[in-house]
Amino acid sequence: MRRKKRIGEAAKRFGKTFIVDAMSSFGGVPMDIADLHIDYLISSANKCIQGVPGFGFIVAKTTELIACKGRARTLSLDLYDQWETMEKHNGKWRFTSPTHVVRAFYQALVELEAEGGVAKRYERYKRNQEILAEGLERLGFRILLTKESQSPFITSIYYPDQEAFSFQAFYDRLKKAGFVIYPGKISQADTFRIVNIGEIYPEDMERLLKAVEENRFW
Ligand SMILES: *Cc1c(COP(=O)(O)O)cnc(C)c1O
Repeated sequence: MRRKKRIGEAAKRFGKTFIVDAMSSFGGVPMDIADLHIDYLISSANKCIQGVPGFGFIVAKTTELIACKGRARTLSLDLYDQWETMEKHNGKWRFTSPTHVVRAFYQALVELEAEGGVAKRYERYKRNQEILAEGLERLGFRILLTKESQSPFITSIYYPDQEAFSFQAFYDRLKKAGFVIYPGKISQADTFRIVNIGEIYPEDMERLLKAVEENRFW
């Protein structure tokens, strides 16, 4: 977050707009949008808010949004128009709204509050990630990032050194055991990823580790 604050301050210093892709962090990491000088923050219903898939949303500084009026290059992605319609018509969506997704989003927000808010959810995610990373290291895997750079919910893991390692076979075995993991080759290293966003608790991480232990030999 400190880095983001520096970026926000630099953006303001040079008179730039600061747009933050918070798709997979909003709702799971405490952040003060004003303090970070964020003009637009973009996120999704189905990540750390724990709603179902169906819409994205944007938290925008009103003055910035008003300055965008009439500048959209597409009809359906006209953010200003969407906002204006909602303002003028009691929260009405411009086109058919995904009613069930909105209802699920409302319920997800109720559950976020019941959990104790973003700070508490962050703690849970962080604990889960730590259990995962420590457990994988115990099993001989190496984690890509240092603890200081590690996110609380997405872990990149190096492929094991064994020549015979096949990510696809590993993936298929874990899926059969009830866990879906992520491919995630980055350009400089062979890695896969495990994500722990969602209604997941330490005992789930332990079950996953057990499944990894039982399926890590190929
Ligand atoms: C999840 C994610 C997306 C896809 O968003 P959906 O609303 O789930 O389709 C795009 N970009 C980033 C960075 C994401 O984490």
